[in-house]
Amino acid sequence: PPFPIHLSGAVQRGFGRGGKDLGCPTANLPDGSVTSMSSVCKTGVYYGYAQVSRTKDGHDELANSDSKVYPMVMSLGWNPFYKNERLTAEIHLMHDYKSDFYGHEMRALVLGYIRPELDYTSREALIEDIEIDKRVALKSLARPAYEAFALDPHFRLSK
Ligand code: ADP
Ligand code: MG
Repeated sequence: PPFPIHLSGAVQRGFGRGGKDLGCPTANLPDGSVTSMSSVCKTGVYYGYAQVSRTKDGHDELANSDSKVYPMVMSLGWNPFYKNERLTAEIHLMHDYKSDFYGHEMRALVLGYIRPELDYTSREALIEDIEIDKRVALKSLARPAYEAFALDPHFRLSK
């Protein structure tokens, strides 16, 4: 696929299933914001950078520093709720946010592929893989060629 891939949209409420329990909340992009990926990308786990806007409807809700650009891992998959006809993208940003940010604008640059989607028989196995994904993402993003992407004009939400 043609990395970097630019994504953006207001964070949607999901089924609230699992994410926070697993220590890995995933912010959902709206339907339609990822249709461009469906023809060129396989489902699975990706890495890159993402940013969440500090304000929602003009109200400051997140602390200033939280609108920074952070490393992220993203799961791209077919949504069973829509009979697997729609792709959904869920992004875990590697930052400890003090509050939720539903409705806030989120931007992401997808820079690489980590692995295909897997079915997990145990919660422990899933948690373990997510931890590995995060390490892989951070290690990949540490390569000098990636530094510039964190400063990409796509991330202009902080202004
Ligand atoms: P949902 O099913 O609604 O997506 P989750 O348990 O996956 O529920 O939690 C996702 C929500 O958690 C996000 O929409 C966001 O508001 C919040 N959140 C807090 N910290 C993070 C983070 N580091 N990465 C992604 N989302 C986060
Ligand atoms: Mg989620």
